Amino acid sequence: MNRLGPVREALHAALGRSVAAPVTDFAPQLALAPSAAPLRRAVFIDKDGTLVVDVPYNVDPARVEFTPHAVEALRLLDRAGYALFVVTNQPGLAAGRFSRSEFARLQRALIDRIQNEAGVALAGFYTCPHAPAPRAALACLCRKPAPGMLRQAARAHRIDLARSWMIGDILDDVEAGRRAGCRSVLLDVGNETVWRRSPLREPDHRALDLFEAAQHIVATAAAEPATDPVRGAGGLQ
Ligand SMILES: [Mg+2]
Ligand SMILES: [Zn+2]
Repeated sequence: MNRLGPVREALHAALGRSVAAPVTDFAPQLALAPSAAPLRRAVFIDKDGTLVVDVPYNVDPARVEFTPHAVEALRLLDRAGYALFVVTNQPGLAAGRFSRSEFARLQRALIDRIQNEAGVALAGFYTCPHAPAPRAALACLCRKPAPGMLRQAARAHRIDLARSWMIGDILDDVEAGRRAGCRSVLLDVGNETVWRRSPLREPDHRALDLFEAAQHIVATAAAEPATDPVRGAGGLQ
């Protein structure tokens, strides 16, 4: 048994991969624009049912459709200075419903469409490739409602999580955001069906589409006292 395999894979994942590299596989943690700049605000956006219309297990780029006003929302948040990340659970990978290279192709197509249609360069695209764990002790650290993907992104991109937001269409997204120390917006579009409630699963705001969520985020920031991104609250002292 090759015991180095997982180690090498983890190293590759941690280092990220150049987007210019040929798309043969996807990196679970894809740092598209690593930076040593001061702490930035970010918005973490769920993919299925939030950024794009949920088509279960779809990896065909031709079937990817943005949710209503998603493009305008990305543009608004980008112009307001937020680093934008997609954070997505893809248990279809663990279940063998599609391959890593098929998902890589979809990921590339989505990144390109965001660039072409919104004029926005995503800061990163984080994917949990794992299946739901049969018990908590076996759970990975990245599958939402765990905050692993947000924390990875924050470390790689110097994100101030306390000034950042998570937007998603189910309470697991809300909880992942809150566990990471962000605020959260629930897209209340009927995709949550279980409504298991707890303090961590209470959204800070509810919106009917991504643009409404983006407007709330921008308006909230405008109403808060300006903080120096480096020396202000939550920044480096
Ligand atoms: Mg979703
Ligand atoms: Zn995971």
